[in-house]
Amino acid sequence: MLASGKSVVFASNNRNKYEEVAELLAPLQIHLIFGPERQAIDVEETAQTYMGNAYIKAVTWAKKTGIPALADDSGLEVRALGWKPGIFSARVAPSTEGRNEWLLKSLEGIEDRVAKYVASFALCLPENGLVLITEGECWGRIAHERSGRGGFGYDPLFIPHGYERPFADLPDKIKARISHRAIASYQLIHIIHQQI
Ligand code: IMP
Repeated sequence: MLASGKSVVFASNNRNKYEEVAELLAPLQIHLIFGPERQAIDVEETAQTYMGNAYIKAVTWAKKTGIPALADDSGLEVRALGWKPGIFSARVAPSTEGRNEWLLKSLEGIEDRVAKYVASFALCLPENGLVLITEGECWGRIAHERSGRGGFGYDPLFIPHGYERPFADLPDKIKARISHRAIASYQLIHIIHQQI
């Protein structure tokens, strides 16, 4: 279905996500190409779910490039905020700095800091139109202040369950093992290995 050595385009303009996913999918031995290095494609994320948005991105990129396309749609869900920002995680403020500021302000004076990251992957194979979808979650809590320089996005504030420091302040290999994207990757690898 997806032989080793095959080229797959990563349907995203986010280099941080690309680097994480390329590393996570190394066991598949595919050639994962960063989207913008292949073609400039902008897709409007009009769905109401991560899976829906990942599906739209994977199908659009596969149609336009003619090669298999893998998309990720992900977000942060905070219990005390009614599980927001969710699919709007990238849109609550224009910059990463602003989004982290928004999160801290929204939780000011709130004890309940429970949160989870969610990631959906969609892999579209243009030769038969098949779309494989997986989803992973990573539970944790939101810190009271930022720390660390690793990761991206909300990582200076997201403390994964079982740890005392946020992802940005932990070794990369921990995020690579337990993140929402890691779980979605394990599922994808499992499905692909079963199908070959
Ligand atoms: P997307 O490009 O629409 O999937 O946006 C996902 C947004 O969710 C990102 O811009 C980040 O703000 C947030 N996000 C998703 N995954 C992560 C992660 O692993 N670390 C930090 N923030 C993340």
